[in-house]
Amino acid sequence: MPEGLEAEIYRRAADRCVGRTIATVRVDDRQAMADELRAVLPGRTIVGTGRRGKLVLVALADGPDDPRDDPRMLGLHFGMTGRLIVDGEAAIDRLEYASGRDDPAWDRFVVEFTDGTTMRVNDPRRWAVFSLDPSLDHLGPDVLELDADVLRPRLSGRRAAIKTVLLDQSVVAGYGNMCVDEVLFHAGTCPLTPTDQLTDDAVDAIAAATAEHLPAMLARGGSHAGVIDPEVRAELPPCPRDGAPLRRDTVGGRTTVWCPVHQRR
Ligand SMILES: [Zn+2]
Repeated sequence: MPEGLEAEIYRRAADRCVGRTIATVRVDDRQAMADELRAVLPGRTIVGTGRRGKLVLVALADGPDDPRDDPRMLGLHFGMTGRLIVDGEAAIDRLEYASGRDDPAWDRFVVEFTDGTTMRVNDPRRWAVFSLDPSLDHLGPDVLELDADVLRPRLSGRRAAIKTVLLDQSVVAGYGNMCVDEVLFHAGTCPLTPTDQLTDDAVDAIAAATAEHLPAMLARGGSHAGVIDPEVRAELPPCPRDGAPLRRDTVGGRTTVWCPVHQRR
């Protein structure tokens, strides 16, 4: 599914639309804010993009003449299988666990700009959500801006398994299943460790592994581009660090791959 890294790839693609003015909008009727989006978006100009976790933000000004006038924020959340396609080009060709097929029947949100170019969200499963001026109150700090000083207070008082806590978007926004397994692999932390039993060194290692490995995975194409990649997840080869048999468990309802030798409580 799109994790924070995929959302960042989508944000960069959306950023190519800065300066374009929206002519028409088509929105899936099942979207809760479909009417508002249809009413507000036409005539507005994209003046910037942002992101918090898995939520991509597109800033819209009231027309091209005064880009600072009355800005509104479009929120794009891609659910499990949503893809952003700008000018007919998918920012990510194929998501893990999702079809790479670009069927027009799966277009849930289509923006046509006055210059004839397009931006659309194609989503076979309809779990993508499009919103106006979305609240960020329920989202923790972004995963790509994390350090130990930011992370430590977010974890305090939590008893659930560290993997479950990191997947909670209100704790840190942007970790997904693959990124958490990757970070805990490099940090040497067992994903089942109760969060309130983590040592200070373990929290430091999680923050350091996040800061080191997530940008590298982003540069290589996304959350599938780590050591615990989809092939490793499927085939469970020996641990690439110590040769021990990797394990596959369910933690917080999510399939989790980890090494019982070097990932310790
Ligand atoms: Zn190992």
